[in-house]
Amino acid sequence: MTAISKKNIWFVTGSQHLYGTETLKQVDSHTETMVKELNANKATIVPIVKQKVVTTPDEIAQVCTAANADENCIGIIAWMHTFSPAKMWIRGLSILQKPLCHLHTQFNATIPWGEIDMDFMNLNQSAHGDREFGFILSRMRKKRKVIVGHWQNPAVARQLDAWTRVALGWAELQQLKVARIGDNMREVAVTEGDKVQAQIQFGFAVNGFGTTDVVKHIDAVTDQDLNALLEVYETGYQLAGTLLKNGSQRSSLVEAARIELGLRSFLSEGGFGAFTNTFENLGLFRQLPGIATQRLMADGYGFGAEGDWKTAAMLRAMKVMATGLEGGTSFMEDYTYHFSTQGSWVLGAHMLEICPSIAHKKPSCEVHPLGIGGKEDPVRLVFDGRPGPAINVSLVDMGTRFRLIVNEVESILPQNELPKLPVARVLWDARPNLEIAAAAWILAGGAHHTVYTQALDASFMEDFADIAGVELLVIDETTRIRDFKDRLNANEAYFHLFQHGL
Ligand code: MN
Repeated sequence: MTAISKKNIWFVTGSQHLYGTETLKQVDSHTETMVKELNANKATIVPIVKQKVVTTPDEIAQVCTAANADENCIGIIAWMHTFSPAKMWIRGLSILQKPLCHLHTQFNATIPWGEIDMDFMNLNQSAHGDREFGFILSRMRKKRKVIVGHWQNPAVARQLDAWTRVALGWAELQQLKVARIGDNMREVAVTEGDKVQAQIQFGFAVNGFGTTDVVKHIDAVTDQDLNALLEVYETGYQLAGTLLKNGSQRSSLVEAARIELGLRSFLSEGGFGAFTNTFENLGLFRQLPGIATQRLMADGYGFGAEGDWKTAAMLRAMKVMATGLEGGTSFMEDYTYHFSTQGSWVLGAHMLEICPSIAHKKPSCEVHPLGIGGKEDPVRLVFDGRPGPAINVSLVDMGTRFRLIVNEVESILPQNELPKLPVARVLWDARPNLEIAAAAWILAGGAHHTVYTQALDASFMEDFADIAGVELLVIDETTRIRDFKDRLNANEAYFHLFQHGL
């Protein structure tokens, strides 16, 4: 699954006619040099496309209108090489619907002390031109990313890439279809929410399907496809003896493969990028999809268990943002605690559905009873998560708005074997510690389901929250509960006012 293909990001340089055509030519050629070099260095995940230098309200409105209309344009990087009086930008910015990144840079890195004259000063004036631009954006209450630094600095390129990735995830959400198979786990609150408001705010559409819609595809699976997939299982994973050819539980593996092929066919026919299911409403499914869901996540599909469509959509968006980056991204659940005087940890897992992209070593493929759902024993991939920094991300519906909650964590390998726990799992140390992290998370109403990622850090989610216009709460090394409560109260007031027009 790829969401990149023809996507690109536009680079718009602002100026004005005050300085004559020679200066504007230089502005244009500097922009060309910058865009060429950034592209040659593959600074951003999608190519940057240089636009004509804009110098009038009409030109600015035209480029914003064109960006809105171009489905391959995922956002605009704007830079004021010279002064560009910002009242000229009001019309364009008020109609711009694509994400905006304000690159506050300068063509020259350093001041040429011996040669600098007023011509140089008039050309290289982003130091004040970009402040004028920033004012109008703030005056218009426009959320945007601001990146400061010389454009050849790798740290600037890294920030540009991160923001471009978030814009790409956002573009994905604008056309994402989420299949909700079998509705919600009964009586569960946090996985519910306002799907209409979610579509208005985030763009993704959630629609319900019966398991019979998928079973049709499972029944149509051919022996040839089935045998090919069983071979993939045999070579890709450490297969339990009973699942090998002629093993006593081989039929469970065959059924799991059939479910995977059926689900894939259902998702691809419907153009879905994410899905949910629930163990309480499996209909004619003979097993809860375990390895199927795990492998679909590994291929980039979003997933949420028990009908959790918000986590499914976020997982898909974050998979797109993380394209090609080191570290995996998975559906996750805070499962069990380890309270200890040496430090308290969370064991994250799910019944089955954890993505093998976060596995530390080659997963083993096993079949075990599930205990709930009343179906046959499901096949699953079992592994420990890779150690290292990660974040957990939860999107919740507060009734009047959505809230995004992020906790920074450090994953560690379990010190002991877990011979009787046949599920994929990750052990982590929450920042600043479990007591504060969990208290803050619970005060914020964060869900037990999350997207867990080692490919993205909290800054990606900060950019995402700005683009989406949602509340963001980050729980990190600096979190103090008393301050966090104040933040919650302040945000209640802010978002209430925001919804009624500041
Ligand atoms: Mn769950």
